[in-house]
Amino acid sequence: MPPIPGSGLAKGLAVTLRTMTKKTVTAQYPDVQPELPPRSRGVIGLFEENCTVCMLCARECPDWCIYIDSHKETVPAAAPGGRERSRNVLDRFAIDFSLCMYCGICIEVCPFDALFWSPEFEYAETDIHELTHERDKLREWMWTVPAPPALDPAAEEPKEIAAARKAAEKLAAAQAEPAPEAPAPEPPAAAPKTPEPPAAPAAGDGGTA
Ligand code: SF4
Ligand code: SF4
Repeated sequence: MPPIPGSGLAKGLAVTLRTMTKKTVTAQYPDVQPELPPRSRGVIGLFEENCTVCMLCARECPDWCIYIDSHKETVPAAAPGGRERSRNVLDRFAIDFSLCMYCGICIEVCPFDALFWSPEFEYAETDIHELTHERDKLREWMWTVPAPPALDPAAEEPKEIAAARKAAEKLAAAQAEPAPEAPAPEPPAAAPKTPEPPAAPAAGDGGTA
């Protein structure tokens, strides 16, 4: 059936009439900052102290956009006779955000809580190379990571907190205990009696003629 002349115009006007009465959803960015959920996937922050250079994040990243360099260092034995240990020391940690697809796999797989989402998203660059954020920049993003939500009051106490609390209680109890009383000093031994001087002989006593 051929279209009725003017039906397209009527449909367009109907859409215009329907939408012009609805509340506008246009965000006037950048004059008005968007209200993003606190857990938005803006950029990734690195908490370097927690990173053990296990390479899990780099291996699991589907875009291969995490670059990690490290070297090994020997740690001397903690006690005499113990064994030396070797540990990985981080030399480079970088994420190329021009390749990243914000899947969050690296954050999920990190076994040591070294990577976090930050809602910051204003890091556009005119040079694509600048989108590779090195470890110093990734650390700076950590200051923008929101605090974790409060624990459920009915939840089981995390085992790390329970262990720390028990250790603190033990220490406080040890400090509160009164110090054991020192044994009373022994009385000084009686001074030896000085021998009596021999009695002087009486006059005329024992004399021989
Ligand atoms: S968010 Fe995904 S793509 Fe981006 S660095 Fe992590 S694993 Fe790779
Ligand atoms: S998975 Fe975590 S601990 Fe392992 S290298 Fe990546 S950031 Fe470091």
